[in-house]
Amino acid sequence: MPPVQAPPRLFGDHFLRQLLPDELGMLEKVRMLVRDVIGPKAAEVGRSDTFAWGNFHLLAREGVVATAFPRQYGGTDARQALRIRIIEELGRVCSASASIVTGTDLSSRAIVSGGSEEMKQRLVPQLCTGEVQVAFALTEPEAGSDVRGLRTTVRRDGDSYVVSGRKKFITRGTTADSFIVVARGADDPAVFIAVLVPRDAPGFSISSEVGKLGWFGVPISSLEFNDVAVPVSQRLGAEGDGFNLAQDALLRARIGHAAMALGRAIGAVEIAATYMSDRSLFGKALGEHQGAQWMLAEMITQIEGARALVAVAAEKYDRGDADVAIFASMAKLQATDLCMKVVVDALQLTGGRGYLQDFPLERFFRDAKLNQIGEGSSEVHKTVIGRDAVRRTRLAERNPCLRPGSLVDY
Ligand SMILES: Cc1cc2nc3c(=O)[nH]c(=O)nc-3n(C[C@H](O)[C@H](O)[C@H](O)COP(=O)(O)OP(=O)(O)OC[C@H]3O[C@@H](n4cnc5c(N)ncnc54)[C@H](O)[C@@H]3O)c2cc1C
Repeated sequence: MPPVQAPPRLFGDHFLRQLLPDELGMLEKVRMLVRDVIGPKAAEVGRSDTFAWGNFHLLAREGVVATAFPRQYGGTDARQALRIRIIEELGRVCSASASIVTGTDLSSRAIVSGGSEEMKQRLVPQLCTGEVQVAFALTEPEAGSDVRGLRTTVRRDGDSYVVSGRKKFITRGTTADSFIVVARGADDPAVFIAVLVPRDAPGFSISSEVGKLGWFGVPISSLEFNDVAVPVSQRLGAEGDGFNLAQDALLRARIGHAAMALGRAIGAVEIAATYMSDRSLFGKALGEHQGAQWMLAEMITQIEGARALVAVAAEKYDRGDADVAIFASMAKLQATDLCMKVVVDALQLTGGRGYLQDFPLERFFRDAKLNQIGEGSSEVHKTVIGRDAVRRTRLAERNPCLRPGSLVDY
């Protein structure tokens, strides 16, 4: 019997032409996992906020977690061009699963970019297989959007660093084996230092899981460090590299958040469009009513636009372009704000059913909000993009329809 061909999708596969044959093979594997396991189980995973171990082990076993890591340490060093497609695919049904992939970048990237050779050889192969997990601890009660306001300190004491302070909103707090902690130098507050702290270090305490609105399956905790000593060999990068290591991890995670939000927006439109063809009112299908068609048209058109922007950001990352951070900010801003709007509109189109816990859009609605807050909120990205545009305008070619001199003199 020939293999059963999956029907064409509402959102076309035009971006897949950018992928190489082995990348397409990995994506096809993820699509099958989504169709057969992750999609059908998504409601169950989203019902309680305990870590989605089943999905984590599945994604690790199938080599999806390893896409985040370099080949020499057991990973597959996937291009962002592939990773955005994988994350979009998972986000289409299950935020927890998408977060397992993009959160792996956030939580472990500093080990890849700043860990010693010994640390990488010991830890990265186990991170690829999911035998160990790391969490990324940057945010504090007094420092969220304004990360330069960190108060946690790292003090050198002989062959050790001593960490003191508090961290808040830390994903994988209850499941990680170690924590990348970014803090200020106690002697020089202008110096940011990143260290890897094992969860059983004396003086380190982790709160129980903190209840939240959505993103069930990837819980968060608060952390407290009371003079926690770790060997100097646990430092990531050089003293002073902490901020840049955090930015490097956040860059990948921002592209990931954008892809996840797009996936969710796509999923929401697929669900609303299906309802539009199943539901009849006032003598014809909901999808035959022009008002509903216009809503669908706007959602689909805007999603395809945002997909193109996210693809450009991924391409820039893979090429190492200097302006990738601005494009990652634009992609995250555009995709996550759009996702929130699309999920609200999709829920409206499905009427009372959209409001039911039994219907997936209620979960999508709760999950969408976090993408606008985590990894730099929409307002932070607007500030970054706007500031960069003002700076570039001073150096940019002047619009040829203007006469010379200051515009104030017009
Ligand atoms: C579920 C979840 C998981 C998380 N996981 C992690 C994790 O694993 N590791 C980690 O380190 N952190 C994590 N975070 C923290 C997250 O990154 C922060 O919540 C985020 O950076 C925002 O910081 P804040 O919550 O302190 O908000 P605040 O900094 O208090 O900001 C409040 C509001 O002010 C707005 N704002 C900020 N600056 C400006 C401005 N200049 N102009 C106008 N408005 C502005 C913001 O956009 C926001 O809407 C997580 C958070 C959540 C909710």
